[in-house]
Amino acid sequence: MNKIENLSEFANKRFGQNFLKNDAIIKQIIQSIPNDNLKIAEIGPGLGDLTKELVLARNVTAFEVDKRLCEHLQNSFSEPIRQGTLTIHCGDVLERWGENMLLDEDYHLVANLPYYIATNIILKALKDEHCQSILVMVQKEVAIKFSAQSGEKAFSGLSVLTQTVGYGELLFDVGAENFVPPPKVTSSILLIRKERTEDNKNFENFLKVAFKQPRKKLTKNLSTDYDKDKIEALLLQKEINLTIRPHEATTLIYHHLYNELNKDHIDGREKSE
Ligand code: SAM
Repeated sequence: MNKIENLSEFANKRFGQNFLKNDAIIKQIIQSIPNDNLKIAEIGPGLGDLTKELVLARNVTAFEVDKRLCEHLQNSFSEPIRQGTLTIHCGDVLERWGENMLLDEDYHLVANLPYYIATNIILKALKDEHCQSILVMVQKEVAIKFSAQSGEKAFSGLSVLTQTVGYGELLFDVGAENFVPPPKVTSSILLIRKERTEDNKNFENFLKVAFKQPRKKLTKNLSTDYDKDKIEALLLQKEINLTIRPHEATTLIYHHLYNELNKDHIDGREKSE
């Protein structure tokens, strides 16, 4: 493949292509990978700047949707591909993931994610029992939402889902000037260490109801789907003020409310028996 002369012109907006062009940041990402020998899954290797460092240390399976980049990667990484330390899958990673696990062995996800599907990818990785940790570059707002603590304004359903399986941390910010072409937003490196895996669509839907109007009272949000007296009784039992807002409750409280309120519900509807 010809050398890519002009990255800005080459980059395809549709695929969220902003190439990271700062070796110091790539080194910092590599140093933040959990220290074991598990395989690395990389989503969107792009031109392979991060991949190049990853394959020095680990076995890597990469997923790239852009055919032009796939061809470029297959040429420039022919040696690790031949040795079996790098596998490249060309195509949409979300289609490949489907309802299943991305790889059939334990792995760490390391990626500079395409921002238009970053939240979706992280949610899939949280639910993938083979995924042991998630180390990703995302839009700063997304990193804050996944890593926020109860009481912080940004604490959201995404924070609760993270804390349900482990611990999320915003490691550091990366300015737009480190990319070609520069994105319109500041980016951050997010690390989620998983201690377990949970895949409960009903709990996710419950959180959507709880955080529907984030600045309203939690009781108001939940009472659109559940009995208000019951919600209030459950909160009072735990000595929680009835004026609590969604971001002020803890992950433990969300699980308690979900379990208790759904004792008599199936998918939010009263049991008929
Ligand atoms: N890793 C490179 C870097 O750090 O410079 C590129 C990162 S760029 C932000 C996102 C990459 O994800 C691009 O290479 C893009 O083509 C790829 N991508 C976008 N959507 C994808 C999808 N659905 N499945 C797999 N890769 C995708």
